[in-house]
Amino acid sequence: MRIFDLARAARIAIGAVVAGAAIAAAAIAHAQAPATQPIRMQTLSVYDILYVLTGGGGNTLALMRDDGVVLIDTKNPGSGKALQENIESVSDKPVTTIVNTNAHANRTGGNAEFPKAVQIIAQEHTKANMQKMDAFKGPNARFLPNKTVADRMTLFDGPDRMELYYFGRGHTDGDLIVVFPEKRVAYFGDLFPAKAAPVIDVANGGSAVELPKTLARAIAEIKGIARVVTGHDTTIAVMANGASGSAIFANPRPMAWKDLEEYADFNRDFLAAVQEAMKAGKPAADARPHCSCRSATRRTTCRTPARTSRRSTPS
Ligand SMILES: [Zn+2]
Repeated sequence: MRIFDLARAARIAIGAVVAGAAIAAAAIAHAQAPATQPIRMQTLSVYDILYVLTGGGGNTLALMRDDGVVLIDTKNPGSGKALQENIESVSDKPVTTIVNTNAHANRTGGNAEFPKAVQIIAQEHTKANMQKMDAFKGPNARFLPNKTVADRMTLFDGPDRMELYYFGRGHTDGDLIVVFPEKRVAYFGDLFPAKAAPVIDVANGGSAVELPKTLARAIAEIKGIARVVTGHDTTIAVMANGASGSAIFANPRPMAWKDLEEYADFNRDFLAAVQEAMKAGKPAADARPHCSCRSATRRTTCRTPARTSRRSTPS
């Protein structure tokens, strides 16, 4: 993905306010997360079939169904083996369905390492973005999505039901949100990477101006969710015994819906601060948000100079 520096961002017209430097640090972290990071898995479901796998460039969800495993995001290239080893600790089924929440290598890099996947699903713009990537050229074109979502798609019934939503541009122009209504869990991928400055990939249709509206639509339309899994935050990995080194961690503690609401408020305020700064002829860096880790809770809080985002204590 393209990383925007401050000087470039400051030159960009108001319609493309991307707060360049403010997002650059986050963008670099996003793009350069090492593939060698260990991949760790923990259950998200009381029935022990929905897991989150951290590491490998970004979070991944795995739903262990009787007829095959559903993998949501396949991490950086080369992560397939470690993902497979984690999955095999709880399922003897192959990965049969992949959902890519955006086109980036940290979401799609492992697709080619799951040749038994019969369906690969993504938002239609994400498929178009993936078609431009070298990783999906030639024989690897078979690892491109073979099923696309315009606005919404439902998969499976009963406790496994998944709703895939597209609410508009944000991180890219094809970010999917994955909701498990029966489990009251939603996965926001890189639309909510962590409590940190947003990462916007303008080259793939992302928009800092549209992101707050997209998050607001998601908050208005998705109902009944208790737990939110982000694209990158790893404070989810609360270990019963941190020294055990066990691959499966107990006591998962993803973020709550109110954390998402706080992040949406922060993005709205952040955009307003950038727009105000640019209108006043100040460099966009003056609106740079300040993010700090609160050590007591290991949660990050972000503030814009203009307004302070509502703080919430994790439950
Ligand atoms: Zn991304």
